[in-house]
Amino acid sequence: MLPIHVAKFGGTSMASAESIQACVNVVERQNNPTLVVVSACAGVTNRLVAISQSHTQTERQRLFDEIVEIHCQAASALPKDNIVHYNLEQLHQRLQSLAQNAPNASESYQRQVRDEILSFGERCSSRLFAAYWSQVAKTPAEVVDARSLLVTNNHFGHAVPNIDKTRKRCTGLSEQLIDSANVVTQGFIGASEDGVTTTLGRGGSDYSAAILAAALSADQLNIWTDVSGIYTIDPRICSDARPLEQISFAEAAELATFGAKVLHPKSLKPAIESGTKVFVGHSRYPEKGGTLILPEPDERPSIRALARRQNQTLLTVNSVEMLHATGFLARLFDVLARYDISVDLVTTSEVSIALTLDEEGSQANGLSVLPEAMLEELREFATVTIEQGLSLIAVIGNDIGHFGDISPWVLEAASPVPIRLICQGASRHNLCFLVTDEQAENIIKKLHAKL
Ligand code: ADP
Ligand code: ASP
Ligand code: MG
Repeated sequence: MLPIHVAKFGGTSMASAESIQACVNVVERQNNPTLVVVSACAGVTNRLVAISQSHTQTERQRLFDEIVEIHCQAASALPKDNIVHYNLEQLHQRLQSLAQNAPNASESYQRQVRDEILSFGERCSSRLFAAYWSQVAKTPAEVVDARSLLVTNNHFGHAVPNIDKTRKRCTGLSEQLIDSANVVTQGFIGASEDGVTTTLGRGGSDYSAAILAAALSADQLNIWTDVSGIYTIDPRICSDARPLEQISFAEAAELATFGAKVLHPKSLKPAIESGTKVFVGHSRYPEKGGTLILPEPDERPSIRALARRQNQTLLTVNSVEMLHATGFLARLFDVLARYDISVDLVTTSEVSIALTLDEEGSQANGLSVLPEAMLEELREFATVTIEQGLSLIAVIGNDIGHFGDISPWVLEAASPVPIRLICQGASRHNLCFLVTDEQAENIIKKLHAKL
């Protein structure tokens, strides 16, 4: 018996009837029993987020109509009497009534309602995938609701999966797959133990797929997307970016953390722990190959790739109380933790601390990274300076800061642009620095030309 694989298809791969059919062809060519995990069709989750944030009924209705149109287009190559049209209609009706009533939900209930609204993208796209797959497969494809498989806590907006409980829920699924069933499930969504819908954070379908792969002890996780693998830099930034044949888990994790959207940063840990190989390839052009993520790739270059993260906030906290004082860092981080703010880079001097906050990654729940009440608390013991519109550039490789020195190379490419913050040393795999969003692209191009 061949080992189980998990195949995850992202939003762009689910964008139209034609692209979903291309994904089905990819799965049909696999010999291994394969669980399919899908994202929402491109553009749907953005609109669902907008619905959940919108204050007017007219705006919500417009967004809702656009979502229905995306799904109708995506279903257009299926026969009129296919059950999927009815299923989609049912789901749309439930979404519409939820969206209409959402503003009346109490504050404590809002986040829960928001996750419920966000779940509709994947719930619809999974049905579309199963319908197209059933058209060509020997056995009809069925949708297994991810909320019956993926158990999370109830941290709405970025729920944390429980791998042990998820594994228990996946025993039946594992048997089904081995018995050649064609199963599709949703990425991005799960449920708390008592069955309340949760979401894992934007871009979280990769993470879902990795958790399910670990729970199924899958041999390989295939991430099918709109690029032929992981490149030396986002090909949208540098047209001469090159695909990487292999990369280590550690390097890929750093790349993902520092902005390579091609993989969700959390998706590699479950794969490392369960010994699942990860492959990234193009759902339209699978024959072009892709990138294999391995514990030990054949080569370990000192510089492998670059990444950029935009919309960074630099928070500088300055306090004379810090001079020879103990407990200042603890006090500062305690405030940040209470407001659920996750910190990325940190540099310190005797009386000040500079740290970066990520508008999208850390606060995927859409809330501010700088809540006014938090700033008030900080101002009680320090002066606070905020700079926004910054980009973090990361140079990713091996043994950085241990053999040779890449800093002159970085400084030369950045010159004469002022570097607002620079970090190296905590990891052997990266050197990161902060510049303004406008200057970042040019610096990346100069760095990439030397790779
Ligand atoms: P999906 O919808 O399949 O999840 P995403 O849009 O989340 O796809 O991720 C794919 C995108 O990631 C690519 O289109 C590409 O622009 C971007 N990307 C960023 N960094 C990299 C990189 N180093 N290599 C490849 N793609 C990258
Ligand atoms: N649909 C979700 C999003 O757009 C999850 C994903 O695509 O990975 O964030
Ligand atoms: Mg993605």
